[in-house]
Amino acid sequence: MLFMKEIKRTLTFDDVLLRPQYSEVLPKETDVRTTLSSRFQMKIPIMSASMDTVTEIEMAYNMSLNGGIGVIHKNLSHSQQSNMIKQIKHIKNGLYYNIMAFESSNKISMIKEKVFDEYLDDCIFVTVNGSIVNIVSKEDLENKKIDSNSTLESIGRKKIIFAKDSSSLEEILKIMDENKLDFMPIVSETTNGIIAVAKRKWLVPYLNSDDPLIDSKERPKVCGAIGVTEDSIERAKLLIAAGVDAIIIDCAHGHSKKVIELTREIKKLFPKLFLIVGNVVTANGVNDLYKAGADAVKIGVGPGAICTTRTVSGVGIPQFSAILECYEEAKKLNIPIIADGGIKNSGDMVKALAAGADAVMLGSLLAGCDESPSVKVMHNNKMYKQYRGMGSIAAMKAGSSDRYGQDGIKKLVAEGVEGLMPYIGPVKESLYQLVGGLKSGMGYVGAKTLTDLKNKAEFVEQTGIGLKESSTHSIVLLSEQSK
Ligand code: IMP
Repeated sequence: MLFMKEIKRTLTFDDVLLRPQYSEVLPKETDVRTTLSSRFQMKIPIMSASMDTVTEIEMAYNMSLNGGIGVIHKNLSHSQQSNMIKQIKHIKNGLYYNIMAFESSNKISMIKEKVFDEYLDDCIFVTVNGSIVNIVSKEDLENKKIDSNSTLESIGRKKIIFAKDSSSLEEILKIMDENKLDFMPIVSETTNGIIAVAKRKWLVPYLNSDDPLIDSKERPKVCGAIGVTEDSIERAKLLIAAGVDAIIIDCAHGHSKKVIELTREIKKLFPKLFLIVGNVVTANGVNDLYKAGADAVKIGVGPGAICTTRTVSGVGIPQFSAILECYEEAKKLNIPIIADGGIKNSGDMVKALAAGADAVMLGSLLAGCDESPSVKVMHNNKMYKQYRGMGSIAAMKAGSSDRYGQDGIKKLVAEGVEGLMPYIGPVKESLYQLVGGLKSGMGYVGAKTLTDLKNKAEFVEQTGIGLKESSTHSIVLLSEQSK
């Protein structure tokens, strides 16, 4: 007897459109803040993906400056990952408050180990009896000509230019510009002691930011990812000690015994931690992670730009339907969900948020930014940045094989690819365009807030021909933006 199970029809972002509705809301009047919980709010509903070509310290810092949050990936040693979080938490109002000062009699070899092995910083101050006599950068230490056995006295910048703590941030930057400095000490007006370091890479974006996402101590907010390995608890402990604002248990199949057990264990050990767990695509998955103690659940199996999970394993659910199904369950449980993967443009983000997501996680849309940790590459006379799946062979060899249940296996089976994303400049600009698209979508629907967007949203299905009409057509394109 032929037995056919019922096959459920599922859709993804390109299959649907939001129906326009009567509106009294202009895009500029919309409010795009999102509340995952009373302990976890964001000013824009965007997270940068925990991938080794998307989020390290610079991306995470700049995400927070723009009101979102970055998730530092875990293809790093425990100390590298937690030191990135520590560094971010040393920044307050654009200045860096972790001063590395060493007496001039110290050997260069000792400093080299500290700076490079612990990833702590990129400049140190050399002092004699507490007064700065010399400033040494990471580049100075990298210079092959220096003798590691000599003392700190022999290298670095001897002319000490500094600003007083009474100076404004603009004045500080002006001094740095005039002297072509990347970092400069800030000295106390009263004690003359060094109290902070102005670093161009933290200060300039801070001065250009309007509404950063900061914690109660005015430090940028940041998340960290952990996997499902024997040392996951150890990693979590270090991230928490470093001041992480939330941890994500990151697994391709979150609806699994090991992830549920780890969620329970972490919640028991750290009840106050905001714990995000994923990825799942079913109501049962959301329910089981909720019961295990997850504070938010991440949705997505197979939609990612670099993902081959569906091709390799035959498994997955088109992302729009996955969000709808998970939202139905999440609503009952009052737990937030994050749509992760498959967002190709701001329109997809609006659809994800309207379908029930409280925030989205982006990989490919941010990998081409200046702040991603990946390498720039010229290809056919165009600039790109590398982007790779955490399930690509190269990324799994670098540490992410546990995400695909292949921890400890010698011959890996890829569930992701390596590729390139067009170089798109500063993340601030990309986020501006994405949030602009979101606000526009909210205006069309007549939604002032993201909650209104969810409550008011009505979707229509479009055919393949409809999709063609929805994209630009019939013209010769002159600019990329009009695509
Ligand atoms: P994107 O925004 O479409 O590029 O998708 C990014 C998301 O894809 C990530 O946040 C992960 O959830 C997922 N992902 C990352 N690497 C892989 C992979 O190698 N295979 C499958 N999914 C991946």
